[in-house]
Amino acid sequence: MKLIFLGPPGAGKGTQAARLESNHNLRQLSTGDMLRAAVAAETEIGLKAKDIMARGDLVPDEVVVGIISDRIEDSDCSDGFILDGFPRNIAQAEALDAMLSDKGMTLDTVLELKVDHNKLLERIRIRSAQTEGGPRDDDNEEALAHRLKVYEEQTAPVSEYYAQKGLVKHVDGMQDMDTVTEDIVEILGL
Ligand code: AMP
Repeated sequence: MKLIFLGPPGAGKGTQAARLESNHNLRQLSTGDMLRAAVAAETEIGLKAKDIMARGDLVPDEVVVGIISDRIEDSDCSDGFILDGFPRNIAQAEALDAMLSDKGMTLDTVLELKVDHNKLLERIRIRSAQTEGGPRDDDNEEALAHRLKVYEEQTAPVSEYYAQKGLVKHVDGMQDMDTVTEDIVEILGL
């Protein structure tokens, strides 16, 4: 099963994708996690991405498209994968379509987690306080406000893009985490 999890920062995509990974053998592919690992390892990509990420902007499309294109062919993705944080704009969605079609793959579902923006700020505050090794560089009020703006301007249209293909299913992300997981499992028929 090939899935996309869509939703603003703090909506719970990462938490829910990690749960599906452990319980249903779908590989969670988080471009944010991969980029943070590249920043920590000070690779060429990491050095390029560090400041862009800290301010809450998007790293260049070719960087993330390249990462995902290589990763989805790995053997641990053969039972399926969840794209968490990708695609983040229409150009990435189009690049994903082209790459999947080249590889003979098709998307099953785009799951959109809906959460009120007021709630997001509260969740990010909790997350920053709980992150081991200190908060993420972009979990501060200024970067979060910018990430939400980038989401509205560039990522929200991705939902419409997939809605036109009939692939989008919505989940109420305001519910407690376990109920969200139950809803997702039911929607996906897992
Ligand atoms: P996330 O962990 O998904 O919130 O991503 C953290 C940051 O990584 C984002 O604010 C961007 O700077 C960068 N990033 C993650 N995924 C993408 C993507 N698909 N396209 C561009 N930048 C991304």
